Amino acid sequence: MSGGTKRKKVFGRCGEPAEEQLMRAYALLELVTPLAVDCGNICGRACCRGDGHTGMGLFPYEEQLLKGEPDFSILSTEDNEGYGLCVCQGMCRRSVRPLACRMFPYFPLVYENKRTGAWGIRVIPDPRGSSVCPLIRQKVPPQPLFERRLRRAARHMLREPKLREYLLQTSRFLMDIEAIRRKLEQS
Ligand code: SF4
Ligand code: SF4
Repeated sequence: MSGGTKRKKVFGRCGEPAEEQLMRAYALLELVTPLAVDCGNICGRACCRGDGHTGMGLFPYEEQLLKGEPDFSILSTEDNEGYGLCVCQGMCRRSVRPLACRMFPYFPLVYENKRTGAWGIRVIPDPRGSSVCPLIRQKVPPQPLFERRLRRAARHMLREPKLREYLLQTSRFLMDIEAIRRKLEQS
């Protein structure tokens, strides 16, 4: 059974709003890549080397979705807002890769516009990957299509409480990392 088929089955059976929003985010980021060219040629696919213990943070509901996939194991952690980490051996079927891999090396930073009460979304290089990814270190922006898709994926997730909370908490965490980095640069 292909990963795509399995995913449809999981979502189709449950049909809950949370899974629908997650599935839309998956679909939006299925084929688009961060750059218009293959950035893996720049670094030798540094983010997909898979050492068997470094993991990508799973979003809410992904653990149930990916459980049993032979390409991954899932580690429990107190980091990542209590959600698990997806650990691989450096290869996976693209159709089943988790959201963090689809977004990497960017993240949709979510904030509330205090004046209007609306959600703002800013696509940023994810500072957690700066030791691995040259696009982050060199502040290379994503191609516009990727940025648009990532924003749309985030808008879908904002409609669901657990996904929204995860995006907000992670956004705060990334802003804290950025604030610390700036302080260190100034000192
Ligand atoms: S580490 Fe960065 S540049 Fe290299 S393949 Fe991954 S996303 Fe692309
Ligand atoms: S799960 Fe797949 S996309 Fe994600 S790091 Fe591993 S090999 Fe790369």
